[in-house]
Amino acid sequence: MDVSSLESAFERITVADENEEQTTTATFHKSKGSLSTAMSLAGLGSTTAPNRMKIPLQKLQQGTASKTLTSTTTVTKITLPSQAAQRSSDESTSFRRTDSIFYNQPSSGRKYDLSMFDIGRPLGKGKFGRVYLAQEKSTGFVCALKTLYKDEIQKGKVEKQVRREIEIQQHLAHQNILRLYGYFDDAKRIFLILEFAGQGELYKHLQREEQFPEWKASQYIAQMAAALKYLHKKHVMHRDIKPENILVGIHGEIKISDFGWSVHAPNNRRQTMCGTLDYLPPEMLTGAKSYSEKVDLWSLGVLTYEFLVGRAPFEDTGMMTQRRICRVEYSIPAFVSPDAKDLIKRLLVLDPEKRITLDEIPNHPWIKKHCVTGERAWNRASSFKPRSSDDRTES
Ligand code: ATP
Ligand code: MG
Repeated sequence: MDVSSLESAFERITVADENEEQTTTATFHKSKGSLSTAMSLAGLGSTTAPNRMKIPLQKLQQGTASKTLTSTTTVTKITLPSQAAQRSSDESTSFRRTDSIFYNQPSSGRKYDLSMFDIGRPLGKGKFGRVYLAQEKSTGFVCALKTLYKDEIQKGKVEKQVRREIEIQQHLAHQNILRLYGYFDDAKRIFLILEFAGQGELYKHLQREEQFPEWKASQYIAQMAAALKYLHKKHVMHRDIKPENILVGIHGEIKISDFGWSVHAPNNRRQTMCGTLDYLPPEMLTGAKSYSEKVDLWSLGVLTYEFLVGRAPFEDTGMMTQRRICRVEYSIPAFVSPDAKDLIKRLLVLDPEKRITLDEIPNHPWIKKHCVTGERAWNRASSFKPRSSDDRTES
């Protein structure tokens, strides 16, 4: 597809177009929107659009040119690893940050633009634009290209949130966290070059399976704990952990995404209200003066419960959910094993300081039983061979 037809294809996608397909959204057992959605752009959900400009995935994956593409612009310096390319250990991705993302880039210097990508099928629809399967032409690197419309971002008054999401995510490299390789913009849109999560949304897996078997839930939780440990070490709290914000990689491994609500908080204390009601910890509901990264441990408890039971523990009407969270009022069905129950109880603890720690989770009997060594167990169970492009993945 040449640049002009690509551009015109994109131009046909207006914001109205992005938002008008709500009637085709599958009916979920609960609202998929987060609190942020409800507050900023009521009613905009996500749905899968009919395939347009479809590039067969297999063809995409055959693009194995092993070049590494480096572009230096005033906005960002991006190194895109080819999936086939093996990186030398001294190679590192570097990004130059700037606030110019909402403004036009200066014309000097080489920069990323849409013409450098083949655009494939839509992967989904977000609050501010669609996400497409894409392939970087010169390297064959397959990625997900997320479009964000600047005027929608401005209307929703979430510039700060988007900037924060980008700034945080581009500095993270962990196999259970969705990579952001870089970004570029044009007059109307911002494009995020994201790692492609081949098996889509975890939420949809859970809906299909209703509940996860204990071995799978345990391995997912071990991966979540590993990712959260990495985040907390970097003083990042996610604050919006829930199945909707977790994607699944091609090997079945989970990838935390959506850093819109995460905060880089060197002092570990924040005082704003955010997140999704079902997953909100009591300290964020009771107006406690401050809260710490322990909020993510509570959410991990809610997630463990939802994986095993198929619904969140405090699910109720809004007011009742709040009340039940603050009183830690929930019951675990009898079919949940005693070990799993024990972990849930150790995570859903009112006092944040008394919650089980991320260091203790890999040694919990329920995790040990199903995972040989925490996150690595998944790799063994699914005979997942770490890509060598994961050289950069820190732990
Ligand atoms: P936002 O992230 O802006 O809060 P959102 O979560 O509703 O909004 P997006 O994250 O933009 O939406 O993604 C929309 C959908 O596109 C996702 O639910 C998912 O199905 C799909 N998707 C997004 N990113 C990827 C990716 N990297 N790989 C595969 N599918 C993706
Ligand atoms: Mg999302």
